[in-house]
Amino acid sequence: MNLEKRNKVFIDRDKLYNLLDRKAPQENELDEILNKALKLKGLSLTDVAALLCTEDEKQIEKIMQTAHTVKEEIYGKRLVLFAPIYTGNVCCNNCTYCSFRKDNHQLKRKILTMDEIADETRALLRQGHKRVLLICGENHKNDTSYMCEAIRTVYGVKERGGKDYIRRINIELAPMEVEDFRRLHEQKIGTYVCFQETYDPVEYKRFHPAGTPKADYEYRLTVMDRAQEGGINDVGIGALLGLTDYRFEVMAMIEHANHLEECFGCGPHTVSIPRLEPAQGAPDAQNVPCPVNDGDFKKLTAVIRIALPYTGMILSTRENSAMRNVLINYGISQISAGSRTNPGAYAEDGKGTGSQFELGDHREMEEVINSFIDEGYVPSFCTGCYRKGRVGGDFMDLAKPGLIKQYCLPNALFTFKEYLEDFAGEDTKRKGTALIKRMLEEYDQRQLIPKIEKNLVEIENGQRDIYF
Ligand code: SAM
Ligand code: SF4
Repeated sequence: MNLEKRNKVFIDRDKLYNLLDRKAPQENELDEILNKALKLKGLSLTDVAALLCTEDEKQIEKIMQTAHTVKEEIYGKRLVLFAPIYTGNVCCNNCTYCSFRKDNHQLKRKILTMDEIADETRALLRQGHKRVLLICGENHKNDTSYMCEAIRTVYGVKERGGKDYIRRINIELAPMEVEDFRRLHEQKIGTYVCFQETYDPVEYKRFHPAGTPKADYEYRLTVMDRAQEGGINDVGIGALLGLTDYRFEVMAMIEHANHLEECFGCGPHTVSIPRLEPAQGAPDAQNVPCPVNDGDFKKLTAVIRIALPYTGMILSTRENSAMRNVLINYGISQISAGSRTNPGAYAEDGKGTGSQFELGDHREMEEVINSFIDEGYVPSFCTGCYRKGRVGGDFMDLAKPGLIKQYCLPNALFTFKEYLEDFAGEDTKRKGTALIKRMLEEYDQRQLIPKIEKNLVEIENGQRDIYF
């Protein structure tokens, strides 16, 4: 482990742009890189640059097929579902792409009370959610004490006589100090998520005006180092795609993963790939500086999948249902469902509050679940690893030799079965039950089948929250 590199700037802008200053790979170079990718050990920055520099449809198709194989090998046919709870839209920053920016005087602002956060939680539990992401603008009222109380509030909500409760809370908050992370860690958060927006230090200044806390590129870049020091093992990185050259941002995310691996022995738990969406009162969201077209978006998803094979990839409801259904085949392992981006949206329809950006997928949770079943994917609400302490480096040690498969599919099936029993309509239940049967028939860990079947029967008989 290299502790000297902690809290230091690890992005060399010129190095990354220079690596991208090249021609598309020849066929033999491409094949060599993709064969390497199939060994599931990731790729170097030079390899990633080569893949990102191709525009050739046949080459892109080969990259996507490789990503599909890697995804199937490591994650199989399961997809983890979650929903965000926006606790507030007040913000002291002025990011040029976001509706929550402080100069957007048209936005109706609100910070939820603890009672309102409990109402939001109940509304999500009634849809069948078990995992939430707490998220908000940056402001002094959304400080660590407020967030700690919010976390306790969400975990404290019990529905249907204590049967339903949120089992994992991830948080997406502005960068903070090590001591704040310690306090959040004590509240048992899962992953800490924060997007760098752009890793390009020059461009960063354009989008994050001076005088706001967010203007400090370096403080944001090193936030995951502080999170790790504060005891948070699972961290989630991301770049807001559309601000600069997407190829640079992908290279930088790989570099960020390398930095974390080098300093802490474990890369990020997740990578997110938010694409800039239209947002009211946000000039750079109305006139996207470097739009990422659908073809490039699919390619970059596939490249990240094969470059960081063990890192979860998150896609939000920024994307429409067609894009989401495609990308689950090429890399995405976690997806939000039934999301709203304004405070109070689930319990109160967010009456009187403004959203952060326009959604691409407006479907309710059951509709989303139905479409994933139709694609042959098992919707999972699993929180097993985190609750068994399989986090950070321990998780990666298990994931790398493929052992995670022994836990993930059974746990996914248990939580999916719970969903079908408790929340699904007749048609979804029938299709879902057939999918579980098919998954068990195809499952290669045959020695586990009797135990899994026994647990599924127990769930049918009313037992809940079973996991390996
Ligand atoms: N305020 C905190 C921060 O900036 O770190 C918490 C996260 S903010 C509510 C969530 C993320 O939304 C931002 O990091 C940004 O990447 C993304 N975002 C902002 N405006 C967006 C837009 N117009 N379209 C898509 N994503 C956007
Ligand atoms: Fe505030 Fe975050 Fe939006 Fe920037 S992206 S204006 S910090 S909520």
